[in-house]
Amino acid sequence: MNWEVVIGLEVHCQLRTRSKLFSNAPVSFGEAPNHAIAALDIALPGTLPVLNGGALELAIRAALATHCTVHERSIFARKNYFYPDLPKGYQISQYEEPLATGGHVDLEPTDGAPRRVRLTRIHMEEDAGKSIHAGSSTDTLVDLNRAGVPLIEIVSEPDLRSAADAAEYLRTLREIVRAVGASDADMEKGQFRCDANVSLRHPGDARFGTRTEIKNLNSFRFVEAAIHSEVRRQTEILESGGTIVQATMGYDAERDRTYTMRIKENADDYRYFPDPDLIPVVISAARIEEIRASLPELSAARTARFIAQYGLAAHDAAALATKPALGAWFEAAAKIAGAKSAANWVLRDVLAALNERGAEIAQAKLAPEAFGALVKLADDGKVTAKNARELLAEMLWQGGDPEALIAERGLAAVSDTGALEAVADEVIAGNEKAVAAFRAGDAKSLNFLMGQVMRRTQGKADPAAVREILSRRLGG
Ligand code: ADP
Ligand code: MG
Repeated sequence: MNWEVVIGLEVHCQLRTRSKLFSNAPVSFGEAPNHAIAALDIALPGTLPVLNGGALELAIRAALATHCTVHERSIFARKNYFYPDLPKGYQISQYEEPLATGGHVDLEPTDGAPRRVRLTRIHMEEDAGKSIHAGSSTDTLVDLNRAGVPLIEIVSEPDLRSAADAAEYLRTLREIVRAVGASDADMEKGQFRCDANVSLRHPGDARFGTRTEIKNLNSFRFVEAAIHSEVRRQTEILESGGTIVQATMGYDAERDRTYTMRIKENADDYRYFPDPDLIPVVISAARIEEIRASLPELSAARTARFIAQYGLAAHDAAALATKPALGAWFEAAAKIAGAKSAANWVLRDVLAALNERGAEIAQAKLAPEAFGALVKLADDGKVTAKNARELLAEMLWQGGDPEALIAERGLAAVSDTGALEAVADEVIAGNEKAVAAFRAGDAKSLNFLMGQVMRRTQGKADPAAVREILSRRLGG
């Protein structure tokens, strides 16, 4: 049977502050357990929360960068539940009146078609502590260093239709929060993690199917794998006549399986109510506009600029502009090579190499200026495209200076016409059959002769020059 996969993501993203959301304890990583805490974080009686203004500004930056409406007034609420790593017995979050609503994230267009993921809301909340089940099988240890760390939760509409799109959305979102300085979004440090809501329906159905929510996925690979295995599980249930039970799931990476953690709680179970310890968050429209003005260029504006400034095709411009770091890398290279050529090399060769490793441009060792120089050398016929591509694959992860590498490896293209003509003459003299075939109208023979010239020049001849010389010599 044919199923449509429907996915909505809830992303928890750690704001880049030095101190916690409501206390002056430091936000740290790798600190000894319970050494980055204040009295408030461990819920000592008599302590009161005070909002970290810096966290609010960063949350607003993220909200504006994703085209949300930022509300001048929002409310902190208590989300009540019991867990050892939550000493207060409630998490401070936002519920009925969140900071921001209704934005969107545009994904890199495929086949020229725009892809937009709508956001439901972005709200601020504090992180919980960590329960550690280590050493003994009966004891649970609690580390409250993370308790009170400022987060935003970014909730998407159920607009995603595949695991790959979900991962793409997360990558794009992570680039955006990084680009505006709201978060370092380092997944390995738990600064960017997501819950994936998944359901199935028949294509064309008006209503969504019952969803399950897979909790706490902290790598792109796990997000994709967990969604795949949950889709498999739901498909099997539905195709054997069963029904999906709305539940909270975990993902067991080792067995590549999702498992039921608990039957889904409803919002009612959390007894949300406005936190009486905190006044409403009020921010003026003027201040919101000031923050908007201080944002770096966002992807829609960048796409338009790439089209106007560099003459790129719309889909190429969008493909580069939706990824701020990649866009900046391209622009630095375009200062040295031609912009269109640099764009082609990025979109074709660089992206392919990054995808192969599942890497981001930030992980590449190659400086964009060196990349631009390599593209220019290829465009000027100083190195063949084939050799340039091979150098690029290597330099991307090792860095280096293209000119020096070309010299060192003797890869400089032979474009010296005199030298090439001599080689061409040798090839013509030594391949009478192919020459005769070409003269008799077999155009393919020219490729064979070109191949012979390339071989004798160890692939360093400029193919265009070789073709031109051979055609001229053979009267083609
Ligand atoms: P909760 O707070 O209980 O998790 P929400 O209504 O806030 O519930 O929804 C959470 C997420 O679930 C959102 O990202 C939304 O897009 C997604 N979602 C809602 N319905 C479905 C569905 N039928 N299939 C997949 N995702 C869904
Ligand atoms: Mg949820």
